[in-house]
Amino acid sequence: MIKINENYLKLQASYLFADIARKVAAFQETHPERDVIKLGIGDVTRSLPPACIAAFHAAVDEMAADGTFKGYGPEQGYPFLREAIAKHDFQARGADIQPDEIFISDGSKCDTGNIQEIFALDAKIAIPDPVYPVYLDTNVMAGRTGSFNAGRYDGIAYLDSTAENNFIPALPSEPVDLIYLCFPNNPTGATISHDQLAQWVAYARDTRALILYDAAYEAFIQDESLPRSIYEIEGAREVAIEFRSFSKTAGFTGTRCAFTVVPKACRAFDEQGNSQALHPLWNRRHSTKFNGVSYPVQKAAAAVYSEDGQTQVKGLVAYYLNNAALIRKEIKGLGFECVGGENSPYIWIDGRKDSWAFFDQLLNEAGVVCTPGAGFGACGEGFIRISAFNSFENVQEALARIKTAIG
Ligand SMILES: *Cc1c(COP(=O)(O)O)cnc(C)c1O
Repeated sequence: MIKINENYLKLQASYLFADIARKVAAFQETHPERDVIKLGIGDVTRSLPPACIAAFHAAVDEMAADGTFKGYGPEQGYPFLREAIAKHDFQARGADIQPDEIFISDGSKCDTGNIQEIFALDAKIAIPDPVYPVYLDTNVMAGRTGSFNAGRYDGIAYLDSTAENNFIPALPSEPVDLIYLCFPNNPTGATISHDQLAQWVAYARDTRALILYDAAYEAFIQDESLPRSIYEIEGAREVAIEFRSFSKTAGFTGTRCAFTVVPKACRAFDEQGNSQALHPLWNRRHSTKFNGVSYPVQKAAAAVYSEDGQTQVKGLVAYYLNNAALIRKEIKGLGFECVGGENSPYIWIDGRKDSWAFFDQLLNEAGVVCTPGAGFGACGEGFIRISAFNSFENVQEALARIKTAIG
């Protein structure tokens, strides 16, 4: 008799985006004349930078001739891309990362989801609340949690991010082994300072833990004092794996390219307590279960680091941050407390009422869709997330409507 992985039965069905879609459809049914503005999704809306498109096209042409055709590429990714990443994203900021410590992939969702495979099943996991659901659900699937009780999985150390701690979780009060952090944060938009991140690195070093650092929104950081990479913190190479993606940086959500950094010095421990390098483990996993990102996509990603590419990518980020600044200003003008939107495309708003009640109000009275914070964890209750990923015109219109409706 074939049996299922029972852990899948523990998973809470993720009704969040389905529930949002259902409510929006119902509203449109009863108000066919109203056009609804969507500020709920975590997906970019602007087209790829021209430098990426040019490189993408040229690489497709190479695939069309036998002399330049490419079959399977190097397992970790093409050196031209890994070298550009190491130089521009890390070495230029004083972070000692080498090209062979970078693994090119088709997404940070898969990487942040798959990385848990290389750690023990009895590892104690620390996960922020609210959170990007991938970290939690992949550990549930793997069997690292108990069942779901009163809104939380047994066995997980939740790291509360609340107004009291400025949405930067405190160090765990119980011993943990594997810590997920994401800055700039999705969903809160909060950022972590150099000193605060240094405390986490020191904690991981002292307790022989490991940090999984999701820096998918690093490109949105404007404040030069904030760390863009965890490897800007001294001592992080031994205790941190970092995830980056071209998705939000350069509009690659539909094109797919990302990377994971596993420094050669990064370690975990075997049953005897001996230190074991993680680089060979991830390399083994990556080359066994993944066969590379397509050559044209890697060429398109490398174009992000060209002079034109850099200018264009900064322009994209500036466009969304301009939206975010307007959202912040108007929402604060209405008397709401919010965080994010300055070094992040997300604004996290204290609605001072039930998340879904605030969602319903914005939809019904203003025709604007946001994301209810409760969908990201227990600490998200009472909050909504507004995304800056839309056109400036739509954002302006949405805010004008919100002001009329609840101002
Ligand atoms: C969008 C996002 C990513 C990137 O995912 P891809 O699979 O690379 O598109 C990673 N982490 C967080 C928190 C995100 O919001």
